[in-house]
Amino acid sequence: MAWFDDLKTPRVQKQDTTSKTSRVPEGAWSKCNECGEIQHSRILSSNFNVCPICQAHGRLTAWERIKLMTDEGASDFKEYGASLISKDPLEFDDTVPYRVRLEKSIGRFNQNDAIIAGKAKINKIPYHLAVFDFQFMGGSMGVVVGEKVAMTMAGALKDQIPAVIVCASGGARMQEGVYSLLQMAKTSSLVSQLKKKGIPMITLLTNPTTGGVAASFAMQADVILAEPKALIGFAGPRVIEQTIRQKLPEGFQRSEFLLIHGFVDRIVHRKNLKKELSDLLWRLGMRTCRFGK
Ligand SMILES: [Zn+2]
Repeated sequence: MAWFDDLKTPRVQKQDTTSKTSRVPEGAWSKCNECGEIQHSRILSSNFNVCPICQAHGRLTAWERIKLMTDEGASDFKEYGASLISKDPLEFDDTVPYRVRLEKSIGRFNQNDAIIAGKAKINKIPYHLAVFDFQFMGGSMGVVVGEKVAMTMAGALKDQIPAVIVCASGGARMQEGVYSLLQMAKTSSLVSQLKKKGIPMITLLTNPTTGGVAASFAMQADVILAEPKALIGFAGPRVIEQTIRQKLPEGFQRSEFLLIHGFVDRIVHRKNLKKELSDLLWRLGMRTCRFGK
């Protein structure tokens, strides 16, 4: 059994997906959090981080998501608001000062905040797209994230084309205090302007969409899509159980539960996302949008 002794144990590593280009090293393996199967990272990466065994939807960076939701690998994605940086309005000082945490995340992920926004095309349909990046401070919404969500919807209003926002967020950014809470009102007011003009607005809720993001524009869209088994809710289950003094049902706050109870309109598998979203944008916007320009 000499050959058996020569077998190498696979190296399991966490997905590192921090830049526009794939940085999957040769021979790297990843373990699925749901089924525990070990997959070659290259296979997972080509499958948009969906486990081929159990179909669990792993996390994507903002740029990976943009590539998935645009034509020709995001080559015609026109980003805006990239230079916006939070000024730390409260000069929030925790164990690690907010400014230091922010600078660290900016350096590490090579982007200025937890969202990327721009104008894109999906199956030749122009639209405005904003994508949260959970790896950047848990996708929390401070002034920059709120402003870029608002810019996305304002762009949709101006160009008369739909707006799509992909959410992945722990909620408001507590280090920006009331300024982060104001983003809920600001983004909600843009949603109502879109509604008045009949411009479609769609949100895609991914794992997790919670707190102030779930409590504002994410749940106000014309169509609310969700990824399978995504955690969606305002407060965490433990807080709710303590408040209402009841045990929560199984699967509470997951996409499938919310679909049954009418909070989510449709659950979309990542492999069908491009087609389903472009069909939806076309049908919703054919009367009110200017797709020809
Ligand atoms: Zn799996």
